[in-house]
Amino acid sequence: MNKILINIVSAFFPERCPYCGDVVNAGKPACPECEEHFPETIREGHVIGGYRYTAPFSYNGIFAEAVKRFKFNGHKEHAEKLALQIANAANDSFNNTELDYITCVPMHKKQLKERGYNQSELLAKYIAKQLNIPYETLLVKHKENQPQHSLTSSQKRDNVKGVYKAVNTDKIKGNNILVIDDIVTTGHTLGECCRILSKAGGIKIYCAALCAKIIR
Ligand SMILES: [Zn+2]
Repeated sequence: MNKILINIVSAFFPERCPYCGDVVNAGKPACPECEEHFPETIREGHVIGGYRYTAPFSYNGIFAEAVKRFKFNGHKEHAEKLALQIANAANDSFNNTELDYITCVPMHKKQLKERGYNQSELLAKYIAKQLNIPYETLLVKHKENQPQHSLTSSQKRDNVKGVYKAVNTDKIKGNNILVIDDIVTTGHTLGECCRILSKAGGIKIYCAALCAKIIR
């Protein structure tokens, strides 16, 4: 697009800050006020099964608002800006590892129909672009289950058992894979995805999410 056209488009459809919804200058990751709240250190730890995760933000304040806007209020246009923060965290945490593929926590097709998009897939595809690593669908959710946030910790563990299965297993075998989700809470969902990928022959499996709030 030429510059005049870009200016016309941005006048009608200005870019917005994913964390507060205000208009931001084109190409900026956030408005200056929200950017001031970005933490200096990233959140790191282990999901169930001992797989490492990284996340740029804690699940609170403007970051929880960003998830809400992006996931439940239909603002999928924020995917690219949010993905950039996850890509940076993954770069910091897993820099010394050759990643072969990026994939995401899948949604059941019924749930996908209701929401219209899988927020984790949108993030994963932009992260793949930003890190220059191919995106691949490596998991599907073939069974419906209860939403994880409505359950106790032990129920969450049972709730995710057997709901995912590996696909494109030739791309899993012998490879290092990064799995993307929007939030890591108990780590049961990501842990189960990692377990399935490991069982299908994945070597090193890592996780990255936008926000982390570990509750065990
Ligand atoms: Zn903002």
